[in-house]
Amino acid sequence: MKKIIYKLLLTFFCFYSFHNYIICQNNYDLEGLELVSSKSLIETVKYLSSDKLEGRLAGSEGYKKAAIYMAEKLKSYNIKPFADSTYFQHLTMEYNWIFAPCKLNLIEEEKIVKEYKLGEDFICRGFTGSGHCITSVVFCGYGISKPEIGYDDYNGINVKGKIVMVFKPIPIWKINNLDWGEISIRKKVEYAFQHGAVGILFVSLPNDKKPQKTIGSVMHGVGIQNENFPQMHISIPLAEEVFDKTNKTIKIIQNIIDSTKTPYSFSLNRIIEMEVNAEYKKEQPTMNIVGIIDGSDPKFKDEYLVIGAHLDHVGKQADEILFPGANDNASGSAAVIEIAKVYAKNKIKPKRSIIFVLFTGEEQGMAGSEYFVNQLPVPVEKVIAMFNLDCIGYGDSIQIGNGKSSPKLWYLAKQTDSLYTKMMVEPTWSGGGADATAFYKKSIPCIYFVSTNGYEHLHYMTDTYGTLNTVLFEKITRLAYLISLQVANGYYNKEIVLQ
Ligand SMILES: [Zn+2]
Repeated sequence: MKKIIYKLLLTFFCFYSFHNYIICQNNYDLEGLELVSSKSLIETVKYLSSDKLEGRLAGSEGYKKAAIYMAEKLKSYNIKPFADSTYFQHLTMEYNWIFAPCKLNLIEEEKIVKEYKLGEDFICRGFTGSGHCITSVVFCGYGISKPEIGYDDYNGINVKGKIVMVFKPIPIWKINNLDWGEISIRKKVEYAFQHGAVGILFVSLPNDKKPQKTIGSVMHGVGIQNENFPQMHISIPLAEEVFDKTNKTIKIIQNIIDSTKTPYSFSLNRIIEMEVNAEYKKEQPTMNIVGIIDGSDPKFKDEYLVIGAHLDHVGKQADEILFPGANDNASGSAAVIEIAKVYAKNKIKPKRSIIFVLFTGEEQGMAGSEYFVNQLPVPVEKVIAMFNLDCIGYGDSIQIGNGKSSPKLWYLAKQTDSLYTKMMVEPTWSGGGADATAFYKKSIPCIYFVSTNGYEHLHYMTDTYGTLNTVLFEKITRLAYLISLQVANGYYNKEIVLQ
C-alpha cells in the first residue's frame, strides 16, 4: 500500500511539474527538440564506427581519433572543457592489441585438414596472450579447479602441453550450496596454465536456449596477464568437429556434467594448431572526454547533471576483423554530443550546470566511469542526477533502466515519454548497470537509456550503422534531452537512491 501511495505521489509530482514546465517553456523546448536530428546522429555514428577508428579499443590509436573527433565537436559548440584544455581526463588502463597471423587449424598426420576462419569459426579473446602450438585437445568441462569446495575439472586428467577446451560461463548450479566466487575468464586461464596446458578454447553452452555466438570481448577480470597463453572463443559447430573422434557430443557432455554436478574431462583425440600474436601493456594511456555548460541561475549553478555514454568498443583483430560498435556505443556517444549541441545552440541556458562525459574502458569493466566518479571535480552531493546512454539505436522501443533505485527520475521519464515519445516500456531494474553503476555506488540518482531488443548485433562484426533504427534513435535522444531540460531547470530535486 505504502508503495502504491508513493508511486501515486510521484506520478502526480512529475505530471504537475512537467506541465508547469511545458507551459512556461513551450517554444524553447520544441525548438530544441527539432535540433535533435537522426541525420546528424547517424553521421556521428558513421564516423565512429568506420574502419579508420579500428573498433575504438580503449588505449588504441582508433580510440584516440574518436576522442579527438568528439572533443572537437564540443569545442565547435563552444562548450567549455572540464578536464584539461583539450577536454581530456587522462588515465591508464590494461591494453592488448592482437596482430596477424592468427590461426586455428585441424591437423591430421601432420597436415592441415581444415583451416578455421577468424570471425566465423572463432574469435580471439580480447586479453589473449601470444603463442603457437600444435598439440592435442582435452575437454575440461567448465574449466574450474576448486578442490577446496569439492569441484575440480582438472582432477585426474593430464593436460600438460595440451590445449584445453572449456565452457565459457560458470555453472548455474552450486556444489554443496557454496558460491563459485569470482571465476573470470582470466581465472579460467590461470587454472589451465597451472595444470600445464598451453592454450585454451572457450565454447558457449550448447544447451542454452540461444547459445551465445562467438563475440569480441575484452571483459577478462582482475589478475595478472598471462602473455604467453593463447585464448580463443570457438563456435559450437567447431567444437562439435573437434569432438567427432569421440563417441560423445558436447551437448550430451554438458547434460551429464549439469545433471551429476560432477566433472567429466577427457581427451578429444584431435590435434589442433593454434597461433595468436598479441602485445600487452599494463598501463596504456587513454582518456575520458569531458565538457561543461555552466548553469545560468545563481541558486542552481553549483548543482550538476551528468549526461554520459561510453565511447570505447572492443577493437580489431589480426588486421582482419573489426567490431564497429555502431549501436554499442557510438549511438549513446553520438546522442550525448547531440544533446550538448542543442544546449549550446539554445539562447536560454539551463539553470543547473550540465557535464557531458564520454567514458573510456567500459568494455573492460567500466574503468572510465569508475575513474570519473572517483576523481569527481565537483562535490558528489552536488551531482543531482546522471543519465547513462548505452546502446540506444537498435531495437524497437525505449527502456529506462535503474528506475527501481531512482524512482523519481524514472517517473519523470515515464511522464515525459507519455506526452512526447510514447515508446517507453515499463520494465526497469536497480543497481545502476554498466557506467551508471559507479554513480549508483556513490548514491547519485541515475537512469540508464537503452532500447529494447537491441542486442542482436552486440559485440559482433555486424554492429554497423546501417542496421540502426533511425526513428527510435532520434526519439530516445529527444526523450533524454526533454528529461534533462526538466532536471537542469529545477523541476526535479535530488532523491534518495534506493538500494
Ligand atoms: Zn559493449
